[in-house]
Amino acid sequence: MIRQFELVERVKAYDPSADEDALNHAYVFAMKAHGSQTRASGDPYFSHPLEVAGILTRYKVDSASIITALLHDTIEDTDTDLHEIRDRFGGEIARLVDGVTKLTRIEFQSDQAKQAENFRKFVLAMSEDIRVLLVKLADRLHNMRTLKYIKNQGKRRCIAMETMDIYAPLAERIGMQEMKSMLEDLAFGELNPDARKSIIKRLDFLRDQGEGLIQRVIVELTRVLAENGITAKVSGREKTPYSIWRKMQHNNVGFEQLSDIMAFRVVVDTVEDCYQTLGVAHNAYPVVPGRFRDYISTPKPNGYQSIHTGVFGPEQQRIELQIRTTEMHDIAEHGVAAHWSYKQGSEDDDHPQYRWLRELLDILEHAAGPEEFLEHTKLEMFQDQVFCFTPRGDLVDLPRGATPVDFAYKVHSEVGDRCVGAKINGRMMPLRSELRNGDQVEIMTSKEQTPSPTWERFVVTGKARAKIRRFIRLQERNQYEQLGRSILQRAFRDDGYEFSDKAIKGVLKVFSQPSVEDLCAQIGAGHFTGIEIVEAVYPGVCKKREDENVIPLARARNCQAKVQPGEPSDGIPIKSLIPGMAMHFAGCCHPLPGDRIVGIVTTGKGVTIHTIDCDTLETYSDTPERWLDVSWDTYEQAAEIHVGRIHLTVLNVPGSLGDLSTVIAKNEGNISNLKITNRSSDFFDMLIDIEVRDVNHLTDVIAALRANPAINSVDRARG
Ligand code: MN
Repeated sequence: MIRQFELVERVKAYDPSADEDALNHAYVFAMKAHGSQTRASGDPYFSHPLEVAGILTRYKVDSASIITALLHDTIEDTDTDLHEIRDRFGGEIARLVDGVTKLTRIEFQSDQAKQAENFRKFVLAMSEDIRVLLVKLADRLHNMRTLKYIKNQGKRRCIAMETMDIYAPLAERIGMQEMKSMLEDLAFGELNPDARKSIIKRLDFLRDQGEGLIQRVIVELTRVLAENGITAKVSGREKTPYSIWRKMQHNNVGFEQLSDIMAFRVVVDTVEDCYQTLGVAHNAYPVVPGRFRDYISTPKPNGYQSIHTGVFGPEQQRIELQIRTTEMHDIAEHGVAAHWSYKQGSEDDDHPQYRWLRELLDILEHAAGPEEFLEHTKLEMFQDQVFCFTPRGDLVDLPRGATPVDFAYKVHSEVGDRCVGAKINGRMMPLRSELRNGDQVEIMTSKEQTPSPTWERFVVTGKARAKIRRFIRLQERNQYEQLGRSILQRAFRDDGYEFSDKAIKGVLKVFSQPSVEDLCAQIGAGHFTGIEIVEAVYPGVCKKREDENVIPLARARNCQAKVQPGEPSDGIPIKSLIPGMAMHFAGCCHPLPGDRIVGIVTTGKGVTIHTIDCDTLETYSDTPERWLDVSWDTYEQAAEIHVGRIHLTVLNVPGSLGDLSTVIAKNEGNISNLKITNRSSDFFDMLIDIEVRDVNHLTDVIAALRANPAINSVDRARG
């Protein structure tokens, strides 16, 4: 156990101004509070907070963090309460201890929803002060080191998994590389002990074989650099068993020689020296292609800086070099803890750590549910980065696979919402294009543009996805509400009643809806039918309806029968509904403007539009409450493109397919899909999807096709 004066001395060594009395006070207080409690290992409980404090001194954190470490389990595990901590140690310490206690209380569980909700709370708790996370990571490191004393294997696994999934990535995100490696390796040892053992065995073997190799490389590198006037500290480092394991899983390769798992670090004084070292190394040894990375000019999001390169080194072994200054090295190992000026302590925008937390919080505010949130954050935590530039030369870092839409949202939410196109390196490119390192991206915007539901399919950043989903949700809700209102009006009118908000206010409770708007949205989404509502308001109506034997199917057919293009109809107009949200066109019959149509309400999906003679409708004949009378309303726009499907039989002779497409093109149709369903020696049977304006347009195309001698028969495909 670290003795009291030892701990104080360690802190004083790097922070002479540290509050010695407070440290002593916390030491004694925590020791007394934990009293005779013991840990699973049999050690006195106090050894744990003390070790946690000891771990943190290695990161040279401020004395408030050290004191928090000493006190971190007193609230959870002893009689002490937060008031007492505040009285004795002040508000700052009380806040930190409270934060750590909150994190401790949040137990991650396998249940996805609960885990996500907890992670959300977790981010909130640590976002208040990054020191909370530092103490928690040190706490977790010590718990992992003593994991073997826990008897219950299930519990051990659970803790190890949590470490792997949550704590190690968090450590990496705040730049604590060393902490991350230690946590991962300890968790790996619990989760896959056999794999870890075999890798260690292989490492030992290679080390024996290449006896002295590492040392010889170090000496040789140091000499070559010195000859060129560079003073450098060269060291060799083996990758951890876990990172080797990951590499083997990822690249599906084994490791042949020690250099495959070695990285040599060259630590120099200045940035100029870094680039000079690079030059010297590339001069002295053949370069391994594709390994060069300059994280000095473009640091990683967690602040990591270094130059990476690969060369065939002094003994013709492939080696990896990491070139950096002393300061960069310190930050690479200790991350956030290395350059934290806690005393000034305020929000410093230049710390990438804060930027990351802010992004997480932003997603958190706009995500609908906890699962969505977890999905975003997991996405963000594990993806590689690409670096792009704005036309003004500002750097924008994005996860690999990001598109101009992600770029736009990263620059500003409003730019994302309004983007209509993108120039990549000066050329107009589709919004779905994947961005590459070094691309210059210029986003075109328009005030009229709104996020498109299709963007969701190709964006990769959490922020873009969250914003798009949020927009779609709003839009969808509006549409469902509008649709629901129309359905209700219709249902009331059909039974001879007048619809009003007032009429249904009285039955909101029956359907557990807080407002008329909510109820309408639920009806639009297909969770309730209009008839159900009418029945609730005027009990007995349905019975009456059955007696009269009026079924909606017949009504739908009746009222659609007379509708012609251009004529107003009394069906619910679908023009106001955006395809893909509250309304979908059926894939079986491909309705076109001018077709007689009917809507089928599907739970959770809104309305699917079918032509009135579609065969699929049979399926719904015994659920008349799903049928909805819809119309193309005024039908003058026609600017929109619709897809019609035709079935045709063509003579199997040379040139007939060419004839076919010529006829369609001449009639301004555009073939969007073609499928041969049957092929005999004489004929082809095929289905063709054609983009047309409306049903008249399609009729023209069909007529022209029928006039062609090579074409045996043409019909519209029905269901
Ligand atoms: Mn603890």
